[in-house]
Amino acid sequence: MALYIVSTPIGNLEDFSFRAIEILKKVNSILAEDTRVSRKLLSHYEIETPVFRYHDFNKEKVTPSLVCRLKENEEMALITDAGTPGIADPAFFLVRAAIRENVKIVPVPGASAFLCALVGSGLPTDRFIFENFLPHKSSRRIKLFLSLKEEPRTIIFYETPHRILKVLKELNDTLGEIQIVIARELTKFYEEFLRGTPKELLSHFDKHPPKGEMVVLFNIRNKYET
Ligand code: SAM
Repeated sequence: MALYIVSTPIGNLEDFSFRAIEILKKVNSILAEDTRVSRKLLSHYEIETPVFRYHDFNKEKVTPSLVCRLKENEEMALITDAGTPGIADPAFFLVRAAIRENVKIVPVPGASAFLCALVGSGLPTDRFIFENFLPHKSSRRIKLFLSLKEEPRTIIFYETPHRILKVLKELNDTLGEIQIVIARELTKFYEEFLRGTPKELLSHFDKHPPKGEMVVLFNIRNKYET
């Protein structure tokens, strides 16, 4: 009995390990966030293992029966729409429940957008904080940014194109002329790293409206260079 936590690519289908493919072929079932998204990847690699949905909306309902099946010696693999399960998705819930029942957990590492963004950002990589998606409420984001004024570590968070302009304005109002890095469409055809102050990035987005998936990073101590 084992639950494999298998990372999948974040855009480029070739970023998939031989080990990940082998494990996905041999397990009894695969748990995926969105089965339609995952089927594209699985059929590309001719993986025919049955796929079931494991999502934020059904995690509480299905977790106990999944853990029972694991205890009865089934082998399962948990994947996410993209990247590493547990990073901005419900994997933690199942992993914790499985550990409580002594199920063996086997992580199978691979891509994660935040780490890929960090190593390409040019910001210090020795110590960092990953904030995931920021709070929905502007007042809570502003409070968070103000609390980071003295933070020496690199800050990383996930953002969406429809909110990035608002967030850049808030960063400008709270932290001023810091250097921001936006890592966009990582591993994909339009991959790019945008670097500049919040104001510079806002004027860039005036001409090129924000699109695609993005990770935002900054380091307060790296004010004038990246
Ligand atoms: N599990 C994923 C991981 O390991 O990175 C994260 C999933 S989270 C639901 C989706 C967010 O991750 C996106 O909104 C974006 O902020 C970031 N992301 C995912 N793929 C990306 C990519 N190729 N380029 C930039 N950001 C990406």
